Amino acid sequence: SGPPDVAVFERHESHVRSYCRKFPVVFERAKGARLYAEDGRVFTDFFCGAGTLNYGHNPSPIKSRIVDYLASDGMMHGLDMYTGAKRSFLVALTEHILRPRGLEYTVQFSGPTGTDAVEAALKLARKATGRRGIFAFSGGYHGMSRGSLAVTGNGRARLAGGVHGQDEVTFIPYEDGPQGPFDSVGFIERLLADSSSGVEKPAAVIVEPLQMEGGVYEASADWLRRLRAVTERHGILLICDEIQSGCGRTGTFFAFEESGIVPDIVTVSKSISGYGLPLALTLFHPRLDVWEPGEHTGTFRGNQLAFVAATAAAELWSRPGFLAQLPAPARRLAELGAELTAAEPEIVVRGRGMVLGIDLGRCGGGERAAAVQRYAFDHGLIVELSGRDDEVVKVLPPLTITPEELGHGLGVLRAALLTR
Ligand code: PMP
Repeated sequence: SGPPDVAVFERHESHVRSYCRKFPVVFERAKGARLYAEDGRVFTDFFCGAGTLNYGHNPSPIKSRIVDYLASDGMMHGLDMYTGAKRSFLVALTEHILRPRGLEYTVQFSGPTGTDAVEAALKLARKATGRRGIFAFSGGYHGMSRGSLAVTGNGRARLAGGVHGQDEVTFIPYEDGPQGPFDSVGFIERLLADSSSGVEKPAAVIVEPLQMEGGVYEASADWLRRLRAVTERHGILLICDEIQSGCGRTGTFFAFEESGIVPDIVTVSKSISGYGLPLALTLFHPRLDVWEPGEHTGTFRGNQLAFVAATAAAELWSRPGFLAQLPAPARRLAELGAELTAAEPEIVVRGRGMVLGIDLGRCGGGERAAAVQRYAFDHGLIVELSGRDDEVVKVLPPLTITPEELGHGLGVLRAALLTR
């Protein structure tokens, strides 16, 4: 059939795509963990829209609800009207996600993307506290708008956005980031105690419980508890960005759950609709409901079809057997990690649940990671890279992947990394 026709993309689309730009193939259909290209090739998806497709592609229990809703001429856009779809989602979010975890949050629909949820969180924290500063972490990723970029701990991205050193953001090294262990909570304590530090008490600390774009660096439960304690003691709001680590990716609905902390504000997007439909939420403690009507609006906040999908996705969490099926594939991911480090001790693996970061920084770096990605592609597996220099192979299979699909992907990775 000849090479795939990708010339039109090269001609008309800006070249700045980052993820997946190396895959010269045109995808047409997808189901579960499988992608089908127009030239007949089939791929296993270990990328999943960077954590957007935690339940796989076109999951049947969600799809049927979308199809029914469309067939019934359900409201497709309602802006701030009360709609049945929004009501169902708010009820499902409360009943299936928040209440079983003892969480009580008010919901702000922030816009279609994760970036919008982060903007809303920062804006709300500043208004609620009357303070301007934000503490953020090196290596964190929070979005591409100026506010969210300003708290993104990646100098290259910030410089490209012209927000270098802006917006009263203080960066703190992550507890166990690429530079090695660091007592970041102790550092925060000292900054706040020292009136000559030049750093004022911030409105909020924003943290990813698992830094995903940064290269799969994990905050320990104990560290998160200490971070919660110091922020509480100083009246600083704690924002957890669960946009990529949430919706079950780490084995619990929110990655912070394992630590037992309760953040003041949580940002959620990506897999919240369960179907790749755009939806972003800023969840916050009811006492922070300080906006006046009109202070945070937007035409596409709260997509009705995304509500329908997200309702079905939330209900999955109460389905008999749903939680019980999560640990088995996660164990197989961890086993591959252990096998890799046993075979080549310079390989470092991180992550939990259905996240595995394979760090090749000490043995080949970004070049070797790119070779692994290329090998995987040639053998029918889509996998992406993260970290400072794309040196970390980021493995994100669907949570609901079948044992066969998982076996295929893991086998390809094993061969890519262990046969050189
Ligand atoms: N926060 C985190 C943790 C993310 O991973 C992302 C997206 N990769 C964002 C925020 C921004 O979300 P979006 O791309 O939907 O704007």
